[in-house]
Parts: sequence; structure tokens; C-alpha cells
Amino acid sequence: MKITSVQTHILDFKLDTAFESASARFDRRQHVLVEITCDNGLVGWGECLGPALLNASVVQAYAPMLIGRDPLETEKTWIDLYNALRDQGQRGLTVTALSGIDIALWDIKGKHFGVPVSTLLGGRFRDTVRAYATGSFRKDNVDRVADIAAEVAGYRAEGFHAVKIKIGFDVEEDLCVIAAVRDAIGPDMRLMIDANHGYDALEAIELGQRAAEYKVDWFEEPVLPELLNAYSEVKARQPIPVAGGETWHGRWGMQDPIENRRVDILQPDICGCGGFTEGRRIADHAALHGIRVVPHVWGTAVQIAASLQFMAALPPSPPRPGARDPILEFDRTENPFRQAVVTKPLEHENGVVRIPDGPGLGITIDRAALQRFALKVV
Ligand code: CA
Repeated sequence: MKITSVQTHILDFKLDTAFESASARFDRRQHVLVEITCDNGLVGWGECLGPALLNASVVQAYAPMLIGRDPLETEKTWIDLYNALRDQGQRGLTVTALSGIDIALWDIKGKHFGVPVSTLLGGRFRDTVRAYATGSFRKDNVDRVADIAAEVAGYRAEGFHAVKIKIGFDVEEDLCVIAAVRDAIGPDMRLMIDANHGYDALEAIELGQRAAEYKVDWFEEPVLPELLNAYSEVKARQPIPVAGGETWHGRWGMQDPIENRRVDILQPDICGCGGFTEGRRIADHAALHGIRVVPHVWGTAVQIAASLQFMAALPPSPPRPGARDPILEFDRTENPFRQAVVTKPLEHENGVVRIPDGPGLGITIDRAALQRFALKVV
């Protein structure tokens, strides 16, 4: 079996209502899928985290190195492609693009052997995961506190056991939002906060100290991802567990945060950290240092499917009867092509998502949807 083509599909949708985190404003949704085809007709799909057009161009730069290769040689291909761009690569888009390619190759491998990727990774520890709702971004021209309180009440009514809200704008206003959210969801639903690295260390420490009374499970990306010493300071000087990792790429990007325990919870993104090949190395490294892994997810059903396969095969850590399972990040913001790209949506039922057990990623792509949401080049 040989790879004969590598294609990218850029999906685009202009939102009616823009929303923003502390690090990005979203007035469109854009994501990129990777399609790899083999000479026997097998096709694999992947997705890259981050800017769609830039990821697509890096995937295209890798494409000539993929043509003619055996798609089953995932480890060799990962190393060869990483080495090819190492001198100017190492982190960022070179690794996010490689992630989408790697996922597509594992999808092909699963289809070739007729088993889900989770079986190829060594076996499934679980067939379902509980999902947590991600939303509560800031919107223009609304009362932010009331808007987010109403939104999270909706997640509770939908059956979610946990919700993650966006902070990182202003300590006082963010504390009002957190208080209103706790009030809206009641005492038992789990609550996480995500600053999208909008604070400096002093703000993050103050926020964490004052927000702890609202029972917060984790404090995500409190400070800039480059500032690893600031991460340690935030972790040491406020009581909420610190999470991060969606912007750290490859095993080398994860090495310092893991070995120096900069975070309590590591959040590798399977479509950003290097795909399954690198993701499992990172998860093993985190387990070696006793750090909890809860993957980051922000994309279409292709990414959700890849994350589910990865999560199915994450060993319970620590192992015990009724061990704690990882939870799935479930983006609830507007994105009409998120589930439309697959023929069978990966939806939740009462806050629980079933992990597909078909070959590869276990999904079928709806090509009509890819056309419908294809970026129109003007
Ligand atoms: Ca985040």
C-alpha cells in the first residue's frame, strides 16, 4: 500500500454573533481537515489545531514527502517529517500540521486492519466518556454576567456534569462571572475556568485565591505558555489546580512542563501535540511523573473522533476499581459544520459520549458538507 495523494479541506463559516476569549476573537469558524488517499483506495482523515490556512500550507509542504510512502509506517513517517523541518520547526504549525497527517495515517491503518485506532493503541479501557461543556465566551453588547449565567444553566439542563467558562479579561468582572455561574449551576456541578493566558502571574494568583470558594476544579492557562516559571508560581501561590498544554507541542514542548510539574493537569491536543504517535509518548511521560492528562479538544467531529480514540486507550492512572476516567472537552459554541462533516454526529446523551468502535476513527465523512462549507476563495 502506498500514499498517492494528500489533500486539505478548509471549512469556513461566518458567525452571526462573534465571541471572544482572552486570546482570540471569533467572527468566523475555520478548521482544516487532511485527507490522505492510498493506491488501493483507502482514505484516511485528520485535522489540525489552529489557523486553517497556515496549517493547510504546511501540510502541503509535507505532501511531497508522503507520496509513495507506506501509510502503515506511522512512526518512521512522523520522525522523517519532523526531521525535515526541524531546523525551523520544532514547535507550532510544523507540529500541528504533522498532527493532522499522523491522525489520517492512523485512520488508514485502522481501516486496513479493520479495527478502531484505540485497538491499535493497545486496547480500550472505556467505551464512553463523560463530556464537559465548553462555552461562555464574551460577546459584544450583552450583560456578560447574566448572559453566561443563562448559558451554563442550559448546560445543566442538558445533563452535563461539568462546565468550563472563559475568564482572563478582568479580575473583578471575572470573579462576578464565576460567582454567578456557581449560583446558576448549583453546588454539585463541576466548574472549570480558562483564562486563555490573559493574566499576568499576580492577577492569576489573586483570581485563584478569591475564586477558590466557588469550588473550581481547574484553572486553565492562567498565564502565557512561554512563562513556565510563572506557571509554577501560580500553581504554588493559589489553591486551584492548574491546567495547561494546548499550546505546547511535541514531546520536547511538553518535557519541561511535565518534568517540572508546572501543571496539575496536562491538556495535550491530539490535533496539535503531534497526533497519536506523539500523543501517546506525551501521555506516557505525564503518567511517569504522576500528572493527570485531560486532552484539549477544539474542532470538528474529526478531531472529536480522534480525541475519543486516544481517550479510550488512556490507561487509568492510578489504576483502581472504579478508576477516574478522563473527561471530554465538548465545544458548545456556534459551528454549523462541527458535526455536519460526518454522516453520524458524535453527540452527547445526558452528558455522555459513546466512543465509536468502527475501523480507524470510526467515522464517515460527508463530502457534501465539505463542499457546502468549503472556504470560498475570492
Ligand atoms: Ca483552553
